[in-house]
Amino acid sequence: MDQGSATMRSMAQITFLEVDAEDQKSVRERFPEAQVFDRVLQGKALVDACKDAGVVSCFIHTSFTKEILMKLPQLRLLCTRSVGSDHIDAETCKKQGITVCNVPDYGSHVIAEHVFALLLSTLRHVTEADAKVEGGAFDYHGLRGIALRGKTLGIVGTGKIGRRVAEIAHGFGMKIVAVDQCRTLEIIDRFGVQYVSPDALLMQSDIITLHVPDTKETEHMIDAAAFKKMKAGAILVNTARGSLIDSRALLGALKTGKIAYALLDVLEHEQNFTENKELIAHPKVVTTPHIAFYADDSMKNMFSDSFLSIEQWMAGETPEHVVKPLNVVCDLSGIRKP
Ligand code: NAD
Repeated sequence: MDQGSATMRSMAQITFLEVDAEDQKSVRERFPEAQVFDRVLQGKALVDACKDAGVVSCFIHTSFTKEILMKLPQLRLLCTRSVGSDHIDAETCKKQGITVCNVPDYGSHVIAEHVFALLLSTLRHVTEADAKVEGGAFDYHGLRGIALRGKTLGIVGTGKIGRRVAEIAHGFGMKIVAVDQCRTLEIIDRFGVQYVSPDALLMQSDIITLHVPDTKETEHMIDAAAFKKMKAGAILVNTARGSLIDSRALLGALKTGKIAYALLDVLEHEQNFTENKELIAHPKVVTTPHIAFYADDSMKNMFSDSFLSIEQWMAGETPEHVVKPLNVVCDLSGIRKP
């Protein structure tokens, strides 16, 4: 990079999109000249907000389609503060000479902790107990909990988040079985994880937690046939993607009592309340609105990685967090390569 280009880059207009009130101070301190928007912008409003920007920092709810990108000829660096970049048309970015950066790991522990927040609050009836006490009844009857120690946890996907879940579950004294296309030796040794077949996981687990990405192979991986194989009274946790579970089959399994609880941070067709109404309203379903990622550490890391990419690019360097293909590589015996 010659000095002239670095100087041009350092003068580029910066636009930050989807910045919550809590994060605006850190953005303004680091980039006082930047334009900052808190809302999700679409269509003309998005083009207007970004039309003079050489650099844009966004999040997952803003779609940079071909149509939008073609109207942003000044844009050179597009940083999404997320792991995934499906909301950005990579092909058009390549053609337009736009560098795309992401945040490869903003804190998998935050999502893993949410799995246990859902489990502990539900299995120990925290919300009902609080309501009961507030209603004047300081009485434990009807609030008998379910302990985690000694229960079998089935982890589907032992990547960054699944590994953290195994670490926490080991601390609780749970037995852990897992499936993944690649086995990770470290978690077998450290947390006693036993890799088993998908059917064995479904049959043995008291609690099943999903941590695989949304792909053609994983879509509806938990379907009516899978529910049939599960233990009666199994508990299902999904903090990965809604598409992994066939929602109608889940509703059926809840109605028969085959599933004792479904704890869901993600839903199929997340924005369609009407479609999910019956599932959400079911007394044995606890839903959070895709908040597993949303905590102090993770938000701080999302912004600091995005700031780093912008600063590296402005200094004329190639940012270290340019989006790379997420290929998990196993050796011939199915062990994850480092
Ligand atoms: P990761 O890439 O580190 O791990 C995914 C694991 O799934 C890998 O070990 C991979 O080998 C395995 N896998 C992929 N396809 C498989 C298949 N067909 N069969 C068996 N194993 C398979 O990903 P991660 O960071 O741990 O994220 C896991 C999931 O969590 C993703 O779906 C991600 O979108 C979701 N997520 C949700 C939130 C939230 O706020 N709810 C936040 C971050 C990530």
